[in-house]
Amino acid sequence: MQDTSLWFPYAQMKNLEVNYEVETGEGPYIQLTNGMKLLDATCSWWCMIHGYRHPEITQIIHDQADKLAHVMLGGLKNQPATALAKKLVEITPDGLNHVFFSDSGSVGMEVAMKMAVQFWQNQGQTKKYKMASLMRAYHGDTTGCMSVCDPEEGMHSLFSGLLPKHHFAPAPTASFDAPAEAVASDIAELRKVFEQHHEEIAGFLVEPLLQAAGGLNMYSPIYLQEARKLCDEFEILFIFDEVATGFGRTGKLFAAEYAEVTPDIMVLSKGLTGGYIGHAATLANERVFNAFWDDDAGKAFMHGPTFMGNPLACAVALKSIEVFERDNYLDKIADLNQLLKEELLGFRHEAVLNTRVLGAAAVIEVKDAKALHGVQDFAISHGVWLRSFDRYLYTMPPYIISADQLQKITSVMKAWFTTS
Ligand SMILES: *Cc1c(COP(=O)(O)O)cnc(C)c1O
Repeated sequence: MQDTSLWFPYAQMKNLEVNYEVETGEGPYIQLTNGMKLLDATCSWWCMIHGYRHPEITQIIHDQADKLAHVMLGGLKNQPATALAKKLVEITPDGLNHVFFSDSGSVGMEVAMKMAVQFWQNQGQTKKYKMASLMRAYHGDTTGCMSVCDPEEGMHSLFSGLLPKHHFAPAPTASFDAPAEAVASDIAELRKVFEQHHEEIAGFLVEPLLQAAGGLNMYSPIYLQEARKLCDEFEILFIFDEVATGFGRTGKLFAAEYAEVTPDIMVLSKGLTGGYIGHAATLANERVFNAFWDDDAGKAFMHGPTFMGNPLACAVALKSIEVFERDNYLDKIADLNQLLKEELLGFRHEAVLNTRVLGAAAVIEVKDAKALHGVQDFAISHGVWLRSFDRYLYTMPPYIISADQLQKITSVMKAWFTTS
């Protein structure tokens, strides 16, 4: 009987055997206690963009911990939090000038939704308290976030009794490179939802260009441009969940840059700290911020997680961004993109429906989820940590991975179909 004191995520504990224990990590590798060394193709749920045990990031944790590991942000500032807010304002799309910190991507999204609702309330618009979201969306596992995830997808549907009802438009279908005509029907569907329900919609939430947990659905930047216009026309705040796409995953620092669209609110997490300590940032533009700026204390934003602005996390995020800029990560990502395209885009097999690549993210989508049963063990036996879900075998590698190491990952992904 295995020890069940540790309850694992997304897993039936009765059948679960977790035989792999990670002892150390180094670059793109995790080292197991059984002596195995695995190339991490998933970047630990997409966050460890610098790989493991990056010397400068590890060092800054030591240095900051030696000075101040934590202090409340209520009524007290700290140097790393102030500096990080300033830095984020500088590197994010123009106009996002105010940063609210929290501790995880889900909470960052909760903050975004509360901010959107109170934005309208503070201006006397009391009916706008619902969200618009997309099918195939994933915005986190907390209650508010679950209510804006794809409502039909299995993971959260059993909670439907608990969750508030929001409005959903179909997932965008026009691919990243699609011409404007191909985007028109996606936008027409969105317009229908806005036309019917705009009076109660406070904000429209999207994962820009890449619906990640929804199966790496990669869609057109034109969709974002057109949606921006619709949001303005129908008085709806446009909210970008860049928790997964932020910090280079799609090939630009932020996915918003492809569309040259500035959202009203933007949420960052995963790559923000390079995965070393959990933290999140919800950024707001002037218009949103100004709706809270008043002599009336009742118009203040009433939220404040214990660990917001944690000095350790903020110092790590600052160092992470410094390394990202100094070591030209966007160039590295462009090289990874090229290689992923060469290795995967032409791949054909009877079990495979489609292959897609955007930035440093790639997926082999199969026709039937059964075609991926056993792929994790197969990959481990070849020295690679892959974690497929549903019909999607994907990689989102750390950006410091070498060409040879990435090729090893893509060849194991392909070999699963051709040799197993
Ligand atoms: C992971 C993720 C979240 C949730 O972040 P957590 O830190 O796991 O709470 C929200 N949105 C997107 C797009 C994500 O990929």
